[in-house]
Amino acid sequence: MSYFEKAAKIYPRRVKGTFRSVKWIAMCVLLGIYYLAPWLRWDRGAHVPDQAILVDLTGQRGYFFGIEIWPQEVYLLVGVLILAAIGLFFATALLGRVWCGYACPQTVWTDLFVWVERFVQGDRNARRKLDESAWTSEKIWKKAVTHLSWLLIGALTGGAWVFYFNDAPALFTDIIHFNVSWTVLGWVIALTLSTYFMAGFARENVCTYMCPYARFQSAMFDKDTLIISYQPERGEPRGKHKAGATWEGRGHCIDCKACVVVCPMGIDIREGLQMECISCGLCIDACDDIMTKVNLPTGLIRYDTENNQLARRSTSHRLNIGLAAKPPESKRNDSASNQSLRWARPRTLVYAAILLSVGMTMVGAIITRPLTELNVIHTRAPQFVRLSDGEVRNTYSLKILNKSHDDRAYNLSVDGVRVNELTVLAAGDTPVQRLLVPANSVGTFRVRLVSDGNAAGRTEIRFILTDPVTRESAHHESYFVR
Ligand code: SF4
Ligand code: SF4
Repeated sequence: MSYFEKAAKIYPRRVKGTFRSVKWIAMCVLLGIYYLAPWLRWDRGAHVPDQAILVDLTGQRGYFFGIEIWPQEVYLLVGVLILAAIGLFFATALLGRVWCGYACPQTVWTDLFVWVERFVQGDRNARRKLDESAWTSEKIWKKAVTHLSWLLIGALTGGAWVFYFNDAPALFTDIIHFNVSWTVLGWVIALTLSTYFMAGFARENVCTYMCPYARFQSAMFDKDTLIISYQPERGEPRGKHKAGATWEGRGHCIDCKACVVVCPMGIDIREGLQMECISCGLCIDACDDIMTKVNLPTGLIRYDTENNQLARRSTSHRLNIGLAAKPPESKRNDSASNQSLRWARPRTLVYAAILLSVGMTMVGAIITRPLTELNVIHTRAPQFVRLSDGEVRNTYSLKILNKSHDDRAYNLSVDGVRVNELTVLAAGDTPVQRLLVPANSVGTFRVRLVSDGNAAGRTEIRFILTDPVTRESAHHESYFVR
């Protein structure tokens, strides 16, 4: 006896309608952004990459159009992640699983793979028949073309990914000349195979069994969140319909199962909202098409809130009478009736407030981002040296980040202690007057500071770095030990 039942393969049928169109548009826009973004150029001046979006692992920089992120500014990435997470929570609280249905990479690539499969093998019944048939030459070529197309899309996906970490045109030239590193090749192969497997085979199982977001997002739902809902008070009792037959004493669902066969998750939404539902809206398109064909109002399945459903159920008797009284040829769209949306609710307001404050903090941090940063480390071994004349010397390591695209020569001064002597040593312990740091780089110096040795203890001091040309300055707190 087996404890596990093999999951039945899902063959979603083609459907047309508003939500299918929105999904096509979302797919084209998102795939277009993913594949084309690494090719956008952004002039940052000489010696700096001109790729608009680039994660330069060798140079340890991240570039996003006019924003340049150094490893020391990784807090900006934390801010972006917080914004993305809260943005997702906000969208989920308002619109339910809109991310899953329209924008999640798993959904987008699966949609593309199903489109290829349908294009080569035909619609639902043809695909199912082909799978059940013996291996003929027709089945072999159709399967081969499908899988080769999937692998090609997978390779393009992996290929586009590595362009985000390298100069895209240069890497493209290397690729077509078979001159790429094992790292690049490894990433392309890994992403080709993972895309092929996830979108070609795993599909809805990723959403149902692998995705953690699917599990906890219901915590963001409330009774005013938009969900996909079937209206049993209007649809039941369901039953087959013959042209010209009366609707008296029966619901509007004609049990055609169009909503079930188009569902990419293979569920029947008439059984109520289920964890598998990704809110893609394709069952709405399918049902609206059927309702139009039988001259009934559309909207038997629709995006709605739990509060609206409860309100409708409490007046279902009156509603049923109202619907039954409509002329059967009525094509009035019923989807907007009895619907009200409460956008401003405690949780949406809290999410919006967090989004706004984190967003404004990020914008402020980017706008006021200094182009020079100074880090000072006091040398501990020894902490200080007492000189023969009684004076005391402390030594420090200085790191200067010149984030500008110009070479800079800084002046250094110290506050908080009487400075008898200040010596700056560049590479090779060469004394220098000005601290020269080339554009877009980090300069390392040693500093010897000599002061009076009359009072023992530790004195708080401040190193001040000034660019005499731009008047920009940076400072760092440290201490002097006697
Ligand atoms: S039930 Fe409808 S909205 Fe939910 S996944 Fe299936 S087709 Fe999409
Ligand atoms: S598509 Fe509409 S009419 Fe057909 S089974 Fe689904 S809910 Fe009923």
